Order: sequence, then structure tokens, then C-alpha cells
Amino acid sequence: MAVMTASRIDTSKVTDEQIGRAYKCFESNGTPFYMVESSRDLFDGEGKRVEYKVTWSKQFGFQCTCEAGKYGFKNCQKGVCQHVIISVAAAREERAAMKELNAKPVQREDVRKAAIKARAKALVAEPLNLSDEDKVRFGLN
Ligand SMILES: [Zn+2]
Repeated sequence: MAVMTASRIDTSKVTDEQIGRAYKCFESNGTPFYMVESSRDLFDGEGKRVEYKVTWSKQFGFQCTCEAGKYGFKNCQKGVCQHVIISVAAAREERAAMKELNAKPVQREDVRKAAIKARAKALVAEPLNLSDEDKVRFGLN
């Protein structure tokens, strides 16, 4: 069986609330993985919300520590559990946000610089070009 990759996962039905339950972590070797809170608000014996760890590797594809994941998602209609789908949605959201973060400050900075430059140029190049009316209004005549 081919390894399931993120590109084959439909995340269109994942809600923002669900994405909010997932957060990215890193193994000590830098490999990213996601922790996803149980959507049924399950708590463990210590009252901590149950979370599942979602990983992906070339060898095994997606894996999840939830019940469905333990059995290789063989009972999952979509081939993976909801936690994997949420993780993929979170990763996509994150990628889109990073893109925006990388693009926007540059644009904003450029706009700001252009505005300052234009204002400076106007101040330097153009002497006060007031109409007679303005001169009267500003008391300059
Ligand atoms: Zn799962």
C-alpha cells in the first residue's frame, strides 16, 4: 500500500475550532509532529485533557496514538483518523500564515518608505505654493 501523504487528505471540513486543538511540536532531532486534543473532551486519570500525537514518516506515513491509529486506521473511512486530518489542516493554515508573515512586512515597509520619500520630496522640492486666499487664511500676507 502506498504511503498516505498530506496532499491526498481533504481538510475542507476542518473547522477553526478543530485547528485550534492542534499544535506543532518538534522531536529532539527537529522532526515536526502535531499534538491534537481529543475532540470529545476526554480527560486522563490526572484530569489532563487527552491528546494524541500525530506523526508522519516516509516509512510509515501518518501515525496517531489514538485508538484508530493503533490499528493502522483500518476502520477509518478516509484512511486516517480525524486527528491526522486536523493536523494536516493546521499545517496548511500555518504554511499560509507564514507566507503572509513573510510577504506582508516587506510590502508594508515598502509602502511606508514610499510615503515618507514622497512627503520628503514634496517638502523639499515644492516651496509653499499657497494661493492668495490661503495666505490670508494662514496670516502670511
Ligand atoms: Zn487519531
